[in-house]
Amino acid sequence: MTQPDHQRIAVIGGGVAAHSALKAFLAAAGDTVGPTTVDVFTRESHRPYRRPSVNKDILIDGKSADDVALPGAVFDGAENVDVSLHLSSEVDAVDTTGRTVTVNGEQYAWDQLIFATGASPRHLDTPWLEGRNVHYIRTPEHSTSLRETLTSLTADDNVVVIGAGILGLEAAAGASTLTDATITVLEAQDDICRRILPAAAARWLRDKHTAHGIGIRCGLSDDDLSAAVADLDPAVMVVSVGLDRDVSLARSAGLDVGRGIVVDEYGRTTVPGVWAAGDCVEIHAEDGTVTLPEDEGSARLLGGIVGLTMAGQDTDRFLLSPPKGWSRQYGLMLNLAGATGRPVQSGQPGPSSHPSDHELVLVSEDEDLVVFSLESRSGGESVVSGVTTVGRSPVVRKAKNALGMTVSEIESEFFTDGALIPSTS
Ligand SMILES: Cc1cc2nc3c(=O)[nH]c(=O)nc-3n(C[C@H](O)[C@H](O)[C@H](O)COP(=O)(O)OP(=O)(O)OC[C@H]3O[C@@H](n4cnc5c(N)ncnc54)[C@H](O)[C@@H]3O)c2cc1C
Repeated sequence: MTQPDHQRIAVIGGGVAAHSALKAFLAAAGDTVGPTTVDVFTRESHRPYRRPSVNKDILIDGKSADDVALPGAVFDGAENVDVSLHLSSEVDAVDTTGRTVTVNGEQYAWDQLIFATGASPRHLDTPWLEGRNVHYIRTPEHSTSLRETLTSLTADDNVVVIGAGILGLEAAAGASTLTDATITVLEAQDDICRRILPAAAARWLRDKHTAHGIGIRCGLSDDDLSAAVADLDPAVMVVSVGLDRDVSLARSAGLDVGRGIVVDEYGRTTVPGVWAAGDCVEIHAEDGTVTLPEDEGSARLLGGIVGLTMAGQDTDRFLLSPPKGWSRQYGLMLNLAGATGRPVQSGQPGPSSHPSDHELVLVSEDEDLVVFSLESRSGGESVVSGVTTVGRSPVVRKAKNALGMTVSEIESEFFTDGALIPSTS
């Protein structure tokens, strides 16, 4: 790939996708890249930090954004790469013909541009939230404000979380460490975490919440939700019903945008020299599958691919690596690899990766869990398409590498008595 004598790169966003792209670019720069100037613009006042810490270390432990910052060395640049990090700098226009971005009325030129604009919490616009003390969680400011409110409650108060996805349950688990108030999670789907967890793992997680005194009610219609909120009359509500990808800037710049900015498996948008990675994208693979990533691992992975590809290095495509995710609740780390979700009921956005057909439970104990999600192969045996684990025992560690194994291989590797116990999904 031919590079200009002196190239300028602009990065919009200061999350993990932007950070990973820059880190990979710098790692490759010494070998393949000429003199380069990189401008990173983030609308936040904080140096880039780990967003998963927002509802864990910041909400639960009262840490600051600085305490959970991503390694800052990348902003020092490298021998032939000058990097400037612009805090509190919102990009409000992108010109893909003149190749500029506009920030606070000032224009910055670029030869290559990365959109890493992330996403915002989806807001619920419904009459039963009117007049309520409603919180969303995405930024350190959100968590600090929620923490202050939760710690001021008494045991007579109610807290209601709307949404029993992973983030809603993390919020409930976090809230339970900060207040004696009664916490109730309300969910429209008929089970928790359908998009991301197999049924057996959902049961395991639900039991953990119940053991910590959290009530979970699923399968609620809008009328049910309205009635439950009126009945509980919560002092605080946390709404966690998904995200909206930050695509408005990309759309007005003329990029192809669906639910996310359309990119290929290397993070290339439909405009040459313009890339995108992280929560803001919609990845269209060569085989026609479409992935809507919304986890840290995917943002890191595609960000890294973009950085290397921009620097002219060969790299694997995004989908060659199975998606990975994690969640920490009650001090336990839940790890997910591959396609671990189940179909969601109609009217809800579909999962990022295709759901499995059925599942096998290897361990489901207090602090250890292994669930294999299986996918039927036409004319062949089912194979493991997803693995959900908790714990660090040898069997859990071994199970993490089971993606792609057939049921017979699982049987001989893991089930000494040969008895496979299918879960009811
Ligand atoms: C509370 C919470 C907990 C989570 N926990 C987990 C977890 O446990 N495990 C996991 O795998 N994933 C988790 N996730 C998801 C994970 O954090 C995200 O997938 C990941 O952070 C996405 O990174 P990103 O860089 O694409 O976006 P972001 O981290 O959202 O960064 C985008 C940045 O771009 C900025 N920006 C947007 N538009 C502009 C503009 N026009 N100009 C300048 N700046 C702009 C935004 O302000 C933001 O700072 C969690 C998410 C949240 C919200």
